[in-house]
Amino acid sequence: MMRIYNTLTKSKQEFHPIREGKVGMYVCGPTVYNYIHIGNARPMIVFDTVRRYLEYKGYEVNYVSNFTDVDDKIIKKAMEEGVDASEISERYIKECQKDMADLNVKEATHHPKATEEIDGMIAMIQSLIEKGYAYEVNGTVYYRVKRFHGYGKLSHKNLDDMQSGHRDILVTGETEKEDPMDFVLWKPKKEGEPAWASPWGEGRPGWHIECSVMSKKYVGDTLDIHAGGEDLIFPHHENEIAQSEAANGVPFANYWMHNAFLNIDNKKMSKSAGNFFTVRDIAEKFPLQVLRFFMLSVHYRSPLNFSDTLVQSAKNGLDRILTAVESAKEVLSKLPQGKQAEKPEEESYKQLQVLREKFEAAMEDDFNTADAIAAIFEMVKLSNITVDENASYDYAKSVIDEIEQLCGVLGIETEKKEEMLDEEIEAMIEERQQARKNKDFKKADEIRDALLEKGIQLKDTREGVKWSRV
Ligand code: AMP
Ligand code: ZN
Repeated sequence: MMRIYNTLTKSKQEFHPIREGKVGMYVCGPTVYNYIHIGNARPMIVFDTVRRYLEYKGYEVNYVSNFTDVDDKIIKKAMEEGVDASEISERYIKECQKDMADLNVKEATHHPKATEEIDGMIAMIQSLIEKGYAYEVNGTVYYRVKRFHGYGKLSHKNLDDMQSGHRDILVTGETEKEDPMDFVLWKPKKEGEPAWASPWGEGRPGWHIECSVMSKKYVGDTLDIHAGGEDLIFPHHENEIAQSEAANGVPFANYWMHNAFLNIDNKKMSKSAGNFFTVRDIAEKFPLQVLRFFMLSVHYRSPLNFSDTLVQSAKNGLDRILTAVESAKEVLSKLPQGKQAEKPEEESYKQLQVLREKFEAAMEDDFNTADAIAAIFEMVKLSNITVDENASYDYAKSVIDEIEQLCGVLGIETEKKEEMLDEEIEAMIEERQQARKNKDFKKADEIRDALLEKGIQLKDTREGVKWSRV
């Protein structure tokens, strides 16, 4: 039986979806104003793995993850570059999708964009006003937090404590609000900002209302699983609950899953603190599935400290798996189909089964990928010991299939790819430039052809040499 740690109840609970065999899942996506950093990649990888395991167990998963494409940070960046906010968000949605594909994150069933769902947001805000949960002042609509009795149930905060924490806000002159805890659902347009027409004048939605509306539209009034990074518990998810439960009159999500932070020097990696690496930075040094393997090497609710050394050791571990699969395939290719074993194999088959059960037990225990990977390593060991020229064809094939399937559940591909890293490509381009300078055109052409053979095409432009993967 699958058990999931639920932030709402602070305990591991057996998983029962609302509809048999189906799971509706919503994961808060990134705000798109820059390349994503590897901290942002953690929830993507972790919850993609949750989805893959649910699918492996036979569930049909409706996986919805949004892009926040209207936000102060996007507008600021657009102003800096002197372009439209939509140009910034469109650009970074594309870049983010490329990173996600390279991290082997499956495409969401739906990946709505906030700016395309404004009508739904206006409708929900209106219904909140009608029900007395929201009010408008000078073009701003606020949520009346005290009106919602369950406020604080996810973050396990006490309303009185929260209020004392907010006292200083009163002093700073936010006098429009009835109560300092009230939060914004709709804000009026400022000069030069993107805006939409609404019953409260031109403006744009607050961040929290987006997710309430998009999850309702693409999943339903009650979600099986709602997920995101733990920094979203308060206020974002608390506010989503207040909005959705007030508007829909039913529980918003049955299971709340939150990943812990990816840290550097034990501090949260974040854009604002400046202590971050983008996924692209890492792609120059490691194939991205190494990053994925690294992220899954610890449980998702444990903080994970990032360092080159730790990623390197994840790479060594992953290589051990890939090499074992490669050599088992090599052995298999030499075994004629139907070849019988020249040694007893019952024990090995049994062991294989035990290890698969171990993998599943780990995943069923709140997606303990660390222990699941340990089971795969044991399988690798078994493969190295038992798959040889004395093995039967069927056994050798079973071992390979098992390892490949379990790796697949983690989103790890076992095919060894001789993909060139950006760093290596750039070094070869540099070498080619040097050859041209020395008028050694033969060598320059050879380097160009060698790159082409590896799927890298060069283009000489006025701004220098550009390359692309073909
Ligand atoms: P943002 O673009 O900041 O809204 O973040 C998108 C997602 O990444 C959210 O689920 C965040 O909780 C998550 N996130 C941001 N920084 C980190 C980090 N350092 N470690 C883990 N998750 C993070
Ligand atoms: Zn959200």
